[in-house]
Amino acid sequence: MMIAGNWKMNGLSADGVNLAKEIASAVKETKRTCEFVVCPPFTLLSLVKKALRGAKVALGAQDCHTAEKGAHTGDISPVMLKDLGCEYVILGHSERRADHHETSALVKTKAESAHNAGLKTIICIGETLAQREAGKTIDVCSKQVRESLPNDAKAGNTVIAYEPVWAIGTGKTPTASEVEEVHAQVRKVLSAKLGKTEAGKMRILYGGSVKPSNAKEMLALEDVDGALIGGASLKSADFMAIADNAGCRC
Ligand code: PEP
Repeated sequence: MMIAGNWKMNGLSADGVNLAKEIASAVKETKRTCEFVVCPPFTLLSLVKKALRGAKVALGAQDCHTAEKGAHTGDISPVMLKDLGCEYVILGHSERRADHHETSALVKTKAESAHNAGLKTIICIGETLAQREAGKTIDVCSKQVRESLPNDAKAGNTVIAYEPVWAIGTGKTPTASEVEEVHAQVRKVLSAKLGKTEAGKMRILYGGSVKPSNAKEMLALEDVDGALIGGASLKSADFMAIADNAGCRC
């Protein structure tokens, strides 16, 4: 089970360090079986890395460039993220697909560069409300997985996050059977690409308004191997309560 927090563009130094320290001490406190990841904004990566010292919490970034280095003003390379101590990078989040016109082809290239730099990737997919209402959810999500998945994808370096765009930050979530349907389809597409064994091992996270109150139901579903959490990852108590409700404490 993976519990990953996407802090998005939130937090100044003091907030980020406090949040990271609270999560680190909560994770250290008990024997927890989840894999924890926190993905702060670029500006906080070094500080958060330091604040997490000694805790089993991996550091992730929220995006990277395709190139290792060069004339790309304002961008950050995967090699730079690795150098800062990142283990993961989120790619293809719907906010980047919408705000920065990122295509699945670009996400795929970024993922290959990230893997070359030694990072693991969390690749986001998900339909808009209009696509769901038009009955296109399965087609849209399948296409995004097929086109975003890097050629070197394997369970050890790639995680898929299904995040319906209309569920992000809205408090709305798909029903349990809607989540199961998409996750089963993602697994099927992965199986066709990677074979059944490798696809069976690849983590598929659910993301979109995950809270302590719905975590138990969401994370018990078939083919749901964890959660990518936005808003609720900004409060350590909520983030840890989601992990607890997902059965991560022992
Ligand atoms: C996200 O943006 O990755 C996300 C899941 O956000 P929220 O949990 O706030 O819906």
